[in-house]
Amino acid sequence: MRQDNLIEKVIKYLFERGFTIIRLRKDLVKAVQKTLRISVWFSEKDYLDWYDPLNLIDEFQLGDVQSLIIIAPRAYSIADEVLHSLDRARYWYDLFIDVKIYSVDIAILDKSLEEAVNNIITTFIDLAMNIVKDGGRCPRCLSNMYVLYLWKFNSKILKDKVIEKVYRCPNCGLRIHRTMKIENSREV
Ligand SMILES: [Zn+2]
Repeated sequence: MRQDNLIEKVIKYLFERGFTIIRLRKDLVKAVQKTLRISVWFSEKDYLDWYDPLNLIDEFQLGDVQSLIIIAPRAYSIADEVLHSLDRARYWYDLFIDVKIYSVDIAILDKSLEEAVNNIITTFIDLAMNIVKDGGRCPRCLSNMYVLYLWKFNSKILKDKVIEKVYRCPNCGLRIHRTMKIENSREV
């Protein structure tokens, strides 16, 4: 797939998942939902160009986002380099950048991107939450859980329209991410 087509496809998907997209550069977008902010980098290379971590932090605005999604042919190896670079920032400059890195391999783009977004929304539910309603009993501690996120989208994994929900237990902190086919759901 050509780089441009790939970027368009990812942007379209993130939009469907409720994100507003800000195109920062040809190979970099920012995806924003409520106060959750993600940088999405499309890398054609499988290495980093910079040795100095400040360049990396600056290029990807890592001080301004909660996570970075790297989409590349060998995304895992670049993600590794980025993590090392952020470690270096700590040693060299005493600079702690708290960013979660997700790698999305182009070969398994659809599934991998969907899983990354599921993960990010669940991890940063405080920033993305769009609803508060009763979510039944917590399977771990039996307290009342809350549903804090509700969204409908076309799932690439389930190949159908789904309702997505994120539950959190205020007592033990358990979080559950669920996607359910709309045809099986009682609350359409
Ligand atoms: Zn609980």
